[in-house]
Amino acid sequence: MSGWLYLLVSLFFVEKLLNSMFKIAIASGKGGVGKSMISSSLLILFSKDKKKVIGVDCDVDAPNLAVWLGEPEKWEKIEKISVSEKPAINNKNLTKEQAEECAKKCRFRALELKGEKLVLNRFLCEGCGACEVFCPDGVIKMRTVESGEIKTKITDYGFPIVSGQLYPGESGSGKVVAEVKKRAENLDGEIMVIDSAPGTSCPVTASFQGVDFVLLVTEPTLSGFSDFERVLEIVDYFKISWGLVINKYEINQDLAKEIRRKSGKRFFGKVSYDKNIFTSVSNLRPIVKTNLKAKKEIEIIYKKLVKKIYYGQANKKKKGFF
Ligand code: SF4
Repeated sequence: MSGWLYLLVSLFFVEKLLNSMFKIAIASGKGGVGKSMISSSLLILFSKDKKKVIGVDCDVDAPNLAVWLGEPEKWEKIEKISVSEKPAINNKNLTKEQAEECAKKCRFRALELKGEKLVLNRFLCEGCGACEVFCPDGVIKMRTVESGEIKTKITDYGFPIVSGQLYPGESGSGKVVAEVKKRAENLDGEIMVIDSAPGTSCPVTASFQGVDFVLLVTEPTLSGFSDFERVLEIVDYFKISWGLVINKYEINQDLAKEIRRKSGKRFFGKVSYDKNIFTSVSNLRPIVKTNLKAKKEIEIIYKKLVKKIYYGQANKKKKGFF
């Protein structure tokens, strides 16, 4: 490669690095601990600070980021996606004995006999394709199915959100998450806030793919603590920098202090338990638009996160991001 060409290619990659979005995943091992509340609040605070932010709802089994933002309806674009296959059954020339044998090949018990016919229980089928291999030739053919949808819109705050939804009974949640993130990456933005799925399974690892920082949210209950430790194992496995927020701090102060002590400098802040938070969200009023104590507490978490991003980006030689 000539010197000039080498320089141009290098500049292209440096430019790409400097313009890359900072991606934050908000995650929790346990559902219902306040992940979407934190995600929505951060999105609004970033946009108030005139940052080009993008919201991504990767909780594809129960997406609710738009609800926490106070605007669940009026999607501008709804795109159906296919990421999995289901068997199509041809009962022609299939004897009862063959059908019984075929049904036994499905370890998820998704194939059953109705009279003499082999039928599929879609809700039990995992789309693994074993029946196509082990049943008599031509009886089962795997066919692509619509597994979910991706919804996009510009919010009233001016930033876009992309939300994924897996249809009931369909499999492939991790693949839907990957598709949702792909759509979001094509948008113009500086910061991506990903509301990850709860737990430690496929959609969570897909949510963590390529992120710069994970903000973990937990609550001081034994199940919350144990699930926090499980999701932390995944974060550590991927070697992603992380911080911790303890929600509903007062419900068990001893445990809250223990979790806080274990997280050390990674502790980003707490949010107090308040029933009014639920009243607020059920009235489609985002927390940072209220006068609740939680609003101030989340603003403190936000400031700490901004500092983290600044230093993170500074490490990537992108000073002056904030
Ligand atoms: S695709 Fe797998 S889960 Fe579905 S019916 Fe066939 S063997 Fe069972």
